[in-house]
Amino acid sequence: MIVEIIVDVSAYPIDRPFDYRVPKHLESVMEIGSRVKVPFGPRKVLGYVTGLKAESEVDEEKLKPIDELIDLEPILSTELLSLSKKMARETLSYEIDALQVMLPAAMRAKYEKFINIERPDEIEDPSLSDFLKGRTRIPLKQLHDSHLLKVVKDYSTKGIVSVDTVVSQQTKMKKVRTIQIADSLTLSDLLKSVHPNAKKQTELISWMLGHAGETMEVSKLLKESGIQNSVLKAIVEKGGGIEGVAEVYREPEAPNLKDTPIPIRLTDEQQVALQAVNIATDQKKAETFLLHGVTGSGKTEVYLQAIKHVLEKGKEAIVLVPEISLTPQMTARFQERFGSLVAVMHSGLSAGEKYDEWRKIHRREVKVVVGARSAIFAPFENIGIIILDEEHESTYKQEDNPRYHARDVAIWRSEFYRCPVILGSATPSLESFARAKKGVYTLLELSKRAKNQSLPSVTVVDMRDELKEGNRSMFSVSLADAIHQRLERKEQIVLFLNKRGFSSFVLCRDCGTVVQCPNCDISLTYHRANERLKCHYCGHEEGVPLVCPECESEHIRFFGTGTQKAEEEIYKLFPEARVLRMDVDTTRQKGSHERLLRKFSEGKADILLGTQMIAKGLDFPNITLVGVLAADTTLHLADFRAAEKTFQLMTQVSGRAGRHELAGEVFIQTYSPEHYAIELAKTQHFETFYNLEMSARKQYGYPPFFYITLIQFSHEDLLKVADFAEKGTRYMKNSLSPETVIIGPAAAAISRVNNRYRYQCLIKYKIEPKLIETLQQLIKMYRTNWMKEGLLMTVDMDPTSIN
Ligand code: ADP
Ligand code: ZN
Ligand code: ZN
Repeated sequence: MIVEIIVDVSAYPIDRPFDYRVPKHLESVMEIGSRVKVPFGPRKVLGYVTGLKAESEVDEEKLKPIDELIDLEPILSTELLSLSKKMARETLSYEIDALQVMLPAAMRAKYEKFINIERPDEIEDPSLSDFLKGRTRIPLKQLHDSHLLKVVKDYSTKGIVSVDTVVSQQTKMKKVRTIQIADSLTLSDLLKSVHPNAKKQTELISWMLGHAGETMEVSKLLKESGIQNSVLKAIVEKGGGIEGVAEVYREPEAPNLKDTPIPIRLTDEQQVALQAVNIATDQKKAETFLLHGVTGSGKTEVYLQAIKHVLEKGKEAIVLVPEISLTPQMTARFQERFGSLVAVMHSGLSAGEKYDEWRKIHRREVKVVVGARSAIFAPFENIGIIILDEEHESTYKQEDNPRYHARDVAIWRSEFYRCPVILGSATPSLESFARAKKGVYTLLELSKRAKNQSLPSVTVVDMRDELKEGNRSMFSVSLADAIHQRLERKEQIVLFLNKRGFSSFVLCRDCGTVVQCPNCDISLTYHRANERLKCHYCGHEEGVPLVCPECESEHIRFFGTGTQKAEEEIYKLFPEARVLRMDVDTTRQKGSHERLLRKFSEGKADILLGTQMIAKGLDFPNITLVGVLAADTTLHLADFRAAEKTFQLMTQVSGRAGRHELAGEVFIQTYSPEHYAIELAKTQHFETFYNLEMSARKQYGYPPFFYITLIQFSHEDLLKVADFAEKGTRYMKNSLSPETVIIGPAAAAISRVNNRYRYQCLIKYKIEPKLIETLQQLIKMYRTNWMKEGLLMTVDMDPTSIN
């Protein structure tokens, strides 16, 4: 028997399976989709079995045997295996990366080196003998001492010691000690035999009699009986029970669940949407729905009832939400409805907890998974529906190999299982809405809020006027007034400051002009080092103007403010306010996100100040004011999606206010009040925005009218990276058809990260049959030659942002 193995080595120029021989004793248990340990060159590595066959093209004697079978049950279904192949091909990544991304990190390989003392008699170095104390095998990492390391190295060249690598899984199952309590007859006999003075023993046996035959965790037994471990040990030795170990799940902090509510009566619009999805479920159709519903229109309720229908058919459901909206509030809604049938996968879980949730899915102990991006690979084998909430969110795209989009994976999987997909959003991505308009997706609309609350009133504040009035603060007069008012009324306030990306731009504070690239309709990026403005799409470059090109004002300079600075200013202006700051700095710790939100929901703070992290998911009745401190930071991102992202964010943050009885008010501060993305956020007229944005995209040749591929290069040496970027771009230009537009190479917007200079090349095309093949050739050149020279090159077939 021969197996094809994808090995855990992703720096290798050749990305293909390798053949291995299966030893006789493993033949009957070897299955596709299991992990194995195999020799690879001089090393031992982890591998995935992707094929079984009787013969190999490789010579019999050259075929190496498998060392060990790690999984008795396959961990990847044939569906997921073929998905990984497809994903590797379409995202131009290594197949091993595509396989590993489907599994929890805990199941990836851990490589640990051990030193074996082969000939103990020949160890003459006293410090080493001292250290070993007769041991013949120790982990290499225990050798901290550089002298010892040197000694070991010398001995290893002489063969006195050897070093080997143990491959294991990163995180193990959690095991606990258990006692299987003896039957009542045994216990009664035991009771008679213990000395009457042994009070504790007598007490324990009597207690055990009440639990005869049960298997119990030792810790639980001790707690409930109130007896010490030493007493238990004595009784077990006398035959009162049998010790064992059991595998348990690490239970992440469980939310307090209310009773399962009776499903709500749907509004007419919800009913129409649900009906359409249920028909697809009943007819086993792989249909993709775009559920476009304003914030608070009851999309989640539609998901819940569609899932219920799927579960009644004995099938499973995957629900994806962006990481940042995986709030306890959101997940509790699913747990309230479906109880213990739900597994939750979010980044707040430890590797071990994630592994446990994965195993619950793998063993079919749950039927619904609610999770962030990677939950799309949940190892279900009878999927009945896949839901992506907030489908426009860029976190659904993985920004690392394999660069997959969860939306694409959802649709691939739904085609395999012939089940519906729901993409839900108040502000769908232009791509999805365009597909819905073309009939590729089925459009479902929820135009009204479920409880008929009105959308909050939105005021756009022109910050140019504030400056003219002599207000240099971050807060306009009207927003500051509104904040004072809420503080008095003891209502809550959310203040939003977007600090996405690192790029900064130059803005005129008098007229709001931002310097743009003449070729690309993109804001120019300010480079502090040499005081220049650069377009990182096409490479156009100019000096920083001293006066505004529009109004000749001298108030033109680069723009940017952080949450910390905002917090300081809040304390100055509103000394009585209790403020919670939520950004990457304050949420680094595990569980801090939830803690901050809980604090806010319990009314322990008046103002929640944060980055885009707070834009979603928040649903607190007492929030009546939302302030956007500077809409410009998103609007002038050096990104062709800047307007789309701004409209989405403004709509999302506005949706946080007045979701319940109290009416909500929103203030958006900006230097560009007349920009359509800001204007339309006032009324949340998505379709009007869509039409305007589509014509801009068409004019400058961006998605969804064109596809784009981004090639990024980075190197420690500026001249080298420029040279490689030039070579790579030229190769693409020479190989692709003339209709395809190739822009660059140009320095990236973030021109240096971790001391590496970054360059990029952008490819725009409508139809380009040679693209994949050409890129594969480019990647091959990179893997076989350029990589050795310190270059890092990435290819993204569908970049969500171009920084
Ligand atoms: P969305 O996901 O579109 O933002 P939600 O599903 O969170 O909207 O619904 C907003 C609020 O309206 C929630 O509190 C929800 O319980 C409630 N709700 C949803 N559907 C109905 C309905 N048919 N009748 C009454 N309340 C509803
Ligand atoms: Zn100006
Ligand atoms: Zn340009």
